[in-house]
Amino acid sequence: MELWYVQNYIENYQMALKVKETLFVGRTKLQEIAIIDTYLYGRVLLLDGIVQTTEKDEFMYHEMLVHPAMVTHPHPRKVFIVGGGDGGAAREVLKHPVEEVVLVDIDEGVIELCQKYFPQLGRWDDPRLRVYIGDAAEYIAETRETFDVIIMDSTDPIPRGVAEPLFSQEFYRRAYDRLSPDGILVSQMEPPFFEAERVKKLWKHLGVFPILRLYWGLVPTYPGGVWSYVIASKKYDPSQGGKDLPFPTRYYSSRIHQAAFVLPVFLEEMFQ
Ligand code: SAM
Repeated sequence: MELWYVQNYIENYQMALKVKETLFVGRTKLQEIAIIDTYLYGRVLLLDGIVQTTEKDEFMYHEMLVHPAMVTHPHPRKVFIVGGGDGGAAREVLKHPVEEVVLVDIDEGVIELCQKYFPQLGRWDDPRLRVYIGDAAEYIAETRETFDVIIMDSTDPIPRGVAEPLFSQEFYRRAYDRLSPDGILVSQMEPPFFEAERVKKLWKHLGVFPILRLYWGLVPTYPGGVWSYVIASKKYDPSQGGKDLPFPTRYYSSRIHQAAFVLPVFLEEMFQ
């Protein structure tokens, strides 16, 4: 008998993955968690039924979420990761000569399961990494720390979901206040083709930043296979940057950096 996992995230759109083995299905206090082994993408992490990370294409997402911001800031020393419980974003940040990475994820169960089923994703034992379990919206409201880069790697802003507060104007204002004078925030920003109205709304919420730049990258397992990100910057324009990194990458390069900020006309008209 064939077993398929069918994702319903975008209305009137489904994605199906043929399942080799179901490795874990359970629920924490906050989210339904499933880990399946698939023929096409290897192991896949699902939270509340939505694909978060897959063994095969996670590098595309995590490299493009992290490196454009990290090369735009001239000397990122202290980085804050919102969510990121699968460990991929922290792994990419720690390849840079940073002094400290603070990761705040609301669900310890995600971290524990990803350490078990996706051991190659994280560098959890790096002494520069501090992990806290809690709501990142509360953390950013209470901390007095200052960061050079803030990386938003949460689940999607599903109405009344745990991640919804992370996409609010209030959160972005507080993040702005916690950034250094040349600080940069980067956020995953939904599928621009299917969710343009939602992206436009989030774009407005980021208006406290003087420089906003949308960019995009391939993530085959996300709706439509193309994902958008936004960099909100206090001082440096990311679309003028980009450099080849002193460590191996499989997606990011100075050329991809430049190309990622070149938008199709329909997106230019919305976001430039
Ligand atoms: N790379 C994936 C993506 O972009 O879809 C997501 C990475 S990670 C699995 C998303 C994480 O965000 C989850 O571990 C979830 O627990 C966390 N998260 C959701 N809402 C949060 C909140 N309010 N504060 C902190 N972490 C949150």
